[in-house]
Amino acid sequence: MSSLLKQIKQTHPHLYKAFSALVDGEQHLLHIKAVDSYWELLKHPVRQVILSGSDLPKNAVISGEYDLIYAGGTLSLLHAAVMAKKYGRKVMIFDRQTPAKSTRDWNISRQELLKLSAIGLFTENEVDSVIVRRYKTGWVEFYKPDGSQKRLYMKNVLDCAVNADKLLGMAKDKVMLVQGSTILAERSFSCCYRFDDHIVVKVEDSKGKAFYYKAEVLVDVMGILSPIAMQLNEGVPQTHVCPTVGTIASGFEDVDFDTGEILASIGPADLVPGKGRQLIWEGFPAEESQYISYLFFYDEADSPNDKSLLGLFDTYFKKLPEYKKIGKEFVVHRPVYGIIPAYFHNGFNRTREIADDRIILFGDAASLASPLTFCGFGSMVRNLPHLTADLDHAITENNLSKKHLEKISAYEPNVASMANLMKYMCFNSATDEPNFVNDLMNEVMIVLDELPERYRQAMFRDEMKIEDLMMVMLRLAWRYPRVLVATWEKLGMHGSFGFLKNLTGWAFSPVR
Ligand SMILES: Cc1cc2nc3c(=O)[nH]c(=O)nc-3n(C[C@H](O)[C@H](O)[C@H](O)COP(=O)(O)OP(=O)(O)OC[C@H]3O[C@@H](n4cnc5c(N)ncnc54)[C@H](O)[C@@H]3O)c2cc1C
Repeated sequence: MSSLLKQIKQTHPHLYKAFSALVDGEQHLLHIKAVDSYWELLKHPVRQVILSGSDLPKNAVISGEYDLIYAGGTLSLLHAAVMAKKYGRKVMIFDRQTPAKSTRDWNISRQELLKLSAIGLFTENEVDSVIVRRYKTGWVEFYKPDGSQKRLYMKNVLDCAVNADKLLGMAKDKVMLVQGSTILAERSFSCCYRFDDHIVVKVEDSKGKAFYYKAEVLVDVMGILSPIAMQLNEGVPQTHVCPTVGTIASGFEDVDFDTGEILASIGPADLVPGKGRQLIWEGFPAEESQYISYLFFYDEADSPNDKSLLGLFDTYFKKLPEYKKIGKEFVVHRPVYGIIPAYFHNGFNRTREIADDRIILFGDAASLASPLTFCGFGSMVRNLPHLTADLDHAITENNLSKKHLEKISAYEPNVASMANLMKYMCFNSATDEPNFVNDLMNEVMIVLDELPERYRQAMFRDEMKIEDLMMVMLRLAWRYPRVLVATWEKLGMHGSFGFLKNLTGWAFSPVR
């Protein structure tokens, strides 16, 4: 038995048992611990990784020159493939693990995914080849002790299961077709040295050997652990988080392979030490007999709850039989996990730092997506056309200052406003009854059920219009006045004014 697994035998017995049965359980455990290092990073002084060109060691040898260097090899592949294929840019992508391999799979609707063919990255057939299953419908439901919960059905929302690795692999092939582009595995970002007319990135291999590469622009796509995002945002890269764990497994006895369970709460809040948490499940049929199930909760990044993926995974394996009936043939094919980031912009517009001179952040490193239903993948697909065209134009025009680069962002005022709603789903044992989140969300489901289907589709696809949100909010306040008190308790003066500022910014934005 491996020593790493042994270490968690007493502390996380359910996780220990499940991972011991996996061939690569030890490797996943190592990776989970690496992601969990995020919580420690938040407590430490911020590491300075953006350095002046004058600090570049005199003996540094440049190993390659590129238009764009991408640090991180997940969503970067989609952006880099467009930059290489459509705009002929020479790109380099490196990842400290294996590029184009994700620790999660994705759901999206086909209509949204087709943006990847509209932009010319893939053919429609190629896009269809990564969809491993389509569902007839999907639903959202929040627990009521008396069984009176409203199950809200919706079509064409997150109804396609995408094989993430296949999609990223196809993007990787497109990058490699463009001469001069490079993709490197097991290379870690160390720091970067900025000059007036270029940037040099220091990368280390698994043995600690340093390599230096030169580019016009460094694209930071290192996800939640990005040290660049940490430095630019002075140690507060996220305000809220959504720790998420799950499995791709087969052998459940009661799953419906035609239906996506978009959000499913099956009990009141978990009154664990700290503030407590409202656990929520998701269930998505995947390839053949496989089924993806996730467990997650929303929280403030600095709450006293245990937000470790290790702890949540132990809870997942303990509670999974309460969510789905596990048959004799049950087998876990792959664990999936990550910390989904969120940022509350206290202003009329984006307040998070997402660029610096010759540096731009995309994906979870930029943390501009809403964690409510869709997250970074959906946001990247939606915004890819302008994130690529505008960056290409900026390189051509040599407009690579912070002021110019920060305009190239996936910030969407509607998404920023909607992300505020996640605060209502952060349980707080000091102010909330155990079923508070469920009761509130159940009322939201009833309101949405009374409105035409386009309202719920827009809400769960991050496409809400301000007048539609106002309609939902007014109807909710009328039905359930308790939401007004909850707004004060959950958001406080600071958060309530911040929400109002977000809404005002949205109202005056061209994208309404
Ligand atoms: C379980 C789960 C399910 C999800 N499902 C959906 C969904 O259905 N739809 C949706 O829209 N979104 C979904 N998301 C969110 C989505 O997966 C993320 O938004 C997306 O993966 C972000 O991609 P990224 O490339 O920005 O970051 P990441 O996926 O975190 O990738 C960052 C990469 O950077 C590398 N890296 C980190 N540090 C360094 C370093 N120092 N040097 C070199 N490389 C480094 C990492 O190894 C990693 O490969 C889900 C998330 C989770 C956790």
